[in-house]
Parts: sequence; structure tokens; C-alpha cells
Amino acid sequence: MDDVKLPGRVLFLSEDPAMVQRQIHGENISLQAALPLRNGVSVDEIAPTWVCYYFGERLEDFPYLGLVCGGSFPFAEGAVVRGGFQVVVSGERHGSHGFREAALFAEFAAGIRLVVARSFDPVYRQHCHALGLLTSTDLGILEALQRGEPLPMECFTRGEDPLTTEIIRNGGLFGYTLARTAGTAILPLPPGREDRDGGAPRGRPHAMTLAEKILARAAVTDPGLGGLPAQARGLASVAPGDSLLVRTDWRFSHETVTNLAAAMLDMFLPDPVIFHAPERILAFRDHLTLAERFPSPDGGKPSFLDTARRLQAFQDAFCASHGIRVHKGGGNGAPGEGISHVIMAERYVQPGQVVVGTDAHTCHSGALGALAFGADAADLANAWVNGDVRIAVPPTWLVRLRGGLRPGVAAKDVVLHLLTLPAMREGSLAGHIIEYQGEALASLRTDERATLTNMAPVFGASSGIVAPDQETVRFIQERRGIRVELEPWMHSDPDAAYAGVVELDCADVRPMVAAPGDPGNALAVDRLDRDVPVDIAYVGSCNGGKRDDIERAYEVVRWALDHGVMLPLRVQLFIQVGSEDVRRHAQDQGWLDAFEEAGARVISPGCGACIHAGPGVSTRPDQVTIGAFNRNFPGRSGPGSVWLASPATVVASAFRGKICGFENLRAAPSGVS
Ligand code: SF4
Repeated sequence: MDDVKLPGRVLFLSEDPAMVQRQIHGENISLQAALPLRNGVSVDEIAPTWVCYYFGERLEDFPYLGLVCGGSFPFAEGAVVRGGFQVVVSGERHGSHGFREAALFAEFAAGIRLVVARSFDPVYRQHCHALGLLTSTDLGILEALQRGEPLPMECFTRGEDPLTTEIIRNGGLFGYTLARTAGTAILPLPPGREDRDGGAPRGRPHAMTLAEKILARAAVTDPGLGGLPAQARGLASVAPGDSLLVRTDWRFSHETVTNLAAAMLDMFLPDPVIFHAPERILAFRDHLTLAERFPSPDGGKPSFLDTARRLQAFQDAFCASHGIRVHKGGGNGAPGEGISHVIMAERYVQPGQVVVGTDAHTCHSGALGALAFGADAADLANAWVNGDVRIAVPPTWLVRLRGGLRPGVAAKDVVLHLLTLPAMREGSLAGHIIEYQGEALASLRTDERATLTNMAPVFGASSGIVAPDQETVRFIQERRGIRVELEPWMHSDPDAAYAGVVELDCADVRPMVAAPGDPGNALAVDRLDRDVPVDIAYVGSCNGGKRDDIERAYEVVRWALDHGVMLPLRVQLFIQVGSEDVRRHAQDQGWLDAFEEAGARVISPGCGACIHAGPGVSTRPDQVTIGAFNRNFPGRSGPGSVWLASPATVVASAFRGKICGFENLRAAPSGVS
């Protein structure tokens, strides 16, 4: 595929809705006539949220339904596919807020094969490469395209790394997989990287971080000539920026993405599709599993309930046909059910492994010394088949937690404190890995370490990691009854290079909250300059529903019960266990009885209120929630406002009826000091 010929029409996304309408009605216009072009076309405009619940069927009808041009919405359903467009053109930042693959899939399904824009959101552009959508920032190619002239493939690969170039040349990830199957693919190794020789690294590796070591060991060096799967033989060393395929140990998805990935396989790979090591693939029903119990404002069924059931049923059937285990959640009480990230840490992930999941918080499992990161639907679907996933080695930031934590200070407080530091706020960690080190880690158990790694995305980072130690061994023994052996390589080299280093004296960290709107609105609880009454207090989600989180919640509840402190009538306290294993432990310990005695409501595992899809959401704009979630963006848990805090602070605030730390509650149980 050396020349690209696109005989279809060119669609200019103009600021002028009349110009867009003329194109929709069949007129071909010039770039000059279309100016000014729309800037900042977002994935929300390409595919509004509701489009994400479609996978495969009808997607071709939906691109640009949310696009605003000159104050109006010029596109109706089916306009793009009926218009015969193959090229779309816009201004700056096409695909902004780029983590919505349904948007690209809708464009592709409608016949678009090339997106030309002055600039792109990098995530959107990466997804284009995966799906086989060509991109260009050179508007100068448009005249030739409109004349029907072929363009050299180099127009679309210029400036890309060698692996991405191969993927583009082969028509996207799936085309590249077909080439691997046919034995015609090239797998370019990063320039200057040493191959391994029969398992032993050749040459002297340079110093590496733990994440780099994991990636080097998992690097695929054989394109799989003559058949899949390719062999992971590893590289002696890797460095930030190296573009690789790496062998995964675990691949997982949840019900809102499994279906999209399945639809991509359907579209791009011929039957029969054989999955690589299906016993290493998992699916979870967690995001919409609590929809059945969602309190819709009118008391009727929630609008997305049918969608949730459809997505769940499809995932079940698809996974059954490929021999994939589904954790079905939904409060059925079965062992091993729960939120994907909690289950992955409790049941599956081991130190040194590579884990990909279709969720930004996959990095939760970095707490066990694995490299865990989010993958898009196309990468996951491809990994189902090949067992490997592509990655550009991210640079690593080192966060050294010095000293010890004060009593009552939790990992959530550490993260929120870090968010107040200029070095961590200025976007310098975007796409990086955060490695936590330092003596304070010794006092943090794995569940707490997972709070640190789970929240890497609030810094813009792609993952978080903690080197495994005897605490990791203890955790795995406790939760799974097996003993893992740590290997000598499982740490960063002392002279490893970091993109940045943050030193935090943990004695400075106090109980924290984040004010509504953004986790970055963090401040110490005792610096609140006003009373903040609380309506809903929620301990739960992947971030705050782990066993140790529930134990911290119990300690506050126990103290309140022992001191005759009652939950104010106005306050609803929800305790949502992250997994059925957590629930069973809480039951055995008597924690659930205490929650019931205190008037708290215990909820089954599921994402629920964290994404406005289960009990515990606010129902009015004036309601205030304090939650142990990892995000508090507007509307994420209902129309009210959401403060973030540690489980102990959440429960203390519930009993006080306004935001306070556990220490404040103990000092003045009635709120009068
Ligand atoms: S609980 Fe919230 S943050 Fe965690 S996986 Fe579910 S939706 Fe994402």
C-alpha cells in the first residue's frame, strides 16, 4: 500500500452552517469557500455520549450529530454516509478531549478514511492510527485529493516512529495483525536497542526504572512471521519514547467497552478469530451493574437501564463464545465479583507483570509492582488476538514519600496534598508514569498503595507503580492464599533516569479534601474557611471501596457508636464494598453489623454513584456529597456538588453533618468545640 487514493468527497467542517449544509446537499466546495474552519471539534461533538452505547449497528448514522457550526447543529442522522464523504477537514485540535473511540468508529463506519486538520488531539490521533483512519496536518494535499490524484503513503507517515509507520502502512492495527498472520509484517525495534539472545540480554543494559525494566522484558521482538502468536523475547533495555509491542499478562475490559472492541473485530478481521490465551483475558460487569437500583428522579426506571442490560447481555454472550471469564458483579454475592480494578489486585496481578484494561484506572494494580495501564478498544481487541499491546515507553516521575505519615492520615490525603504542589499541577506529568518510593511506603499496605496508583490519572499520568516488597508478598498471601517470590530485578536501578523528582515530607500531610469540580481543588480540612454541610457521604468505588478503606470507615463508625454519636437525620451514609470478597471480610469482622446499627446503607460492588449510575447519587443541584471517589467533575455523581476525601474523613463528616476530619470529630463530637 504505497499510494493512497481516496475517490470519495471532501467534507469541510466550516464555521458557517450554510456551507456545511450545501456540502450535505451534494455541492463540492473549496477550502477557500469553507473558511473559517471549525477549531476544537471535540469527540463529544463527533459522537455525543449516548452514541457510546451503540457498538457496530447504526454507528455510521451518528458522526457529527453534536457538532456546532455558527450556533446550529447542521448534521442529521445519516448525513455523512449518504453524502459519500471520505475525507473530513477541520481547523485546530480536531478530536479534542480525545478518549472516545466511538467517535472515531462512527467516522470510520460512515466512510471517512482521512482526517485533515491543522492540529490534532494526540490521543485522538493515536486512536486514528489504531483504527486505520489516516491523518494529516497538511491542508495543501486537499486540492490534489479533490482532483482525484493519489498521494504517496509518506504523506501520512512522515514524522511517525517506525512501528507506528508500519501500523499506518498496513491500514491500522488490525491490518498490521493480518500482515503478521500472513508473515509479511515488519516489526521495527527501537533504534539502538539490543535484542535478547535466547532469554539472556545481549550487551550491557543501561540503568532503568522498574517500569522500563518490565517493558524491556515484555518487549516483542518477533513479528510473528508465519503465524501468531509472536514470541516475546525481550530487549536488554528500553528508554522513554521507544515504540514497542509488549506481551501482556492480563487483558481486561468492562461492559461499556467490550462490545465496541468486539464490533471492531467483526469489522476488521475475518472469521474465525482465535484469541491468544483466553484464560488470560477477563471481562467485568461493573460500570452499569448497579443501574438496576438507580433511583431515577421520577421513581420510574432509569433511561439507560435497557442499554445497561443490552451491553451486559452482549458481553456475556460474546465472552461465552470465546471462553472468556466474566465477573458479573451486581451483588450476586459470588466470590470474586466486584469492580474490575479491585478484583484485578485481589485475585490476579503479580509483581513484574504487564496489565492492560479498557479504563484509565487500570493503573490501580501498579500497587503490586506491575505495569498496568489503560488501553483503547482497538488496542484491546487486537491484544485479544495477539496477546500484545503497543506502547511508547513513557518517561517516569519519581515521587519520594519521606518520613512517616501522621496518625489518621491516609494515602488519599497524600494524593490530594501532592495535587497542591506546583510541580505536580502544571501538566508536566501528562502521559508519564509515577513511581512512588520512600520510607512512608513501609506503613502503607497494598490497598493504600493502590489508592496512590489508582489516582495517577488525576495528575495526567498514564500509570503509577510501587516496587514490590514483603508487603506485596503479604497481600497476595492474605487475599489469594499463595506465596509469590520476588525476583532481584524488580526495582528501579539506583542511577535510573527520571523525568522529574518530587520529595514530600509526609509530616506535612494533613487530612485533605478536594472542593467540587476537580480533584486539583485540594486543601487541608482544617483550612476550610466555612462550614460545609453534607447531605450524602459515600465510601466506595474502586478507589475507596477496598478492604482497608472499609476498615477505616468502620473505625469511625465504631467510635461514633461507642460514644453515642448519631448520624444526623439529614445525612445519608453509603458504604459500598469494592468486591464481594471485601463484603465477606467485612461481614466476618462484624463491620457490616456496625454499619447497619449506625444507619448506613451497604451497597453491592459496582461503579454506581462514581459515574452517576447507582444508589448514592445526588438528585438535586443543592445537595452536597463527600465521597471517597477519585474524581469529582461536575455532574459525575448527579447534579449536586462532590467533595473528595479519605474514607475516614467521609464518615467523620457524615456523623458531624458537615465536612470535618476524624480528629475534629473526636475532639468535639457535637460539632461545638
Ligand atoms: S469506580 Fe469509578 S473510577 Fe473506578 S472504575 Fe468505576 S467508574 Fe471508574
